Amino acid sequence: MDKERKLIIAGNWKMHKTVAEALDLVSDLKLELANVKEVDIVVCPPFTALGEVSKAILDSNLRLGAQNMSEHNVGAYTGEIAAVMLKEFSVRYVILGHSERRQYQKESDELVSKKAHAAHTAALKPIVCVGETLVERDAGHTEKVLEKQVRGSLAGLSKEQMSESVLAYEPVWAIGTGKTATTAQAQEAHAFIRALLGKTFDETVARRVRIQYGGSVKPSNARELLSQPDVDGALVGGASLEARSFAEIIKNSI
Ligand code: PEP
Repeated sequence: MDKERKLIIAGNWKMHKTVAEALDLVSDLKLELANVKEVDIVVCPPFTALGEVSKAILDSNLRLGAQNMSEHNVGAYTGEIAAVMLKEFSVRYVILGHSERRQYQKESDELVSKKAHAAHTAALKPIVCVGETLVERDAGHTEKVLEKQVRGSLAGLSKEQMSESVLAYEPVWAIGTGKTATTAQAQEAHAFIRALLGKTFDETVARRVRIQYGGSVKPSNARELLSQPDVDGALVGGASLEARSFAEIIKNSI
């Protein structure tokens, strides 16, 4: 696939996989994807598997991501994980503001922006998630919601930091539901976000930032979605839990 930006496809394993299961999955992925150079491939296991997965993928083209982190660097924050702790495991990416965290942990745009700053300070690349609910889409508020989330979650980042960040457009109604945005809906939202980056930062930044699509991506729809000009990759939940389906999504995108 001829793309302006290098594709980045990340698997968000959520609260799945023990260490043993995680190691089985990456060992299969390493075999299936050994020759892929055209796509940045990222796996995001739960915190408990980061250490072992990190060692297992050392000699491979798989990169490591975390699913969340604290906005603080150190201190009395029981149960939290700091960016420097992720760096110890050679984590390169961190998913921030996933809709499940926005919904269940009530994460706000302001908090996501603090986390994005903390990630950059530690030289981690944030994958910042935005997306509207079905109620918001049906009410015609998609662009308003995206604008608020993009501006709020990325507030105060420098142009350099923004260029190194990844965005994920994930319509909430398409996550884990089997419903996928049509290619037209995905392209429209991605183009809107890119134009907004142009206004908020500048055109160079807007051209550089990779915007992933997320929401029930599977082998059968990946090619069409990823062929859209402003869709620069995918954030994959369910289909990333099996080596074959995740590998097929990646191979179908080349
Ligand atoms: C996600 O969790 O980011 C996601 C897109 O999940 P799924 O692919 O299962 O819809």
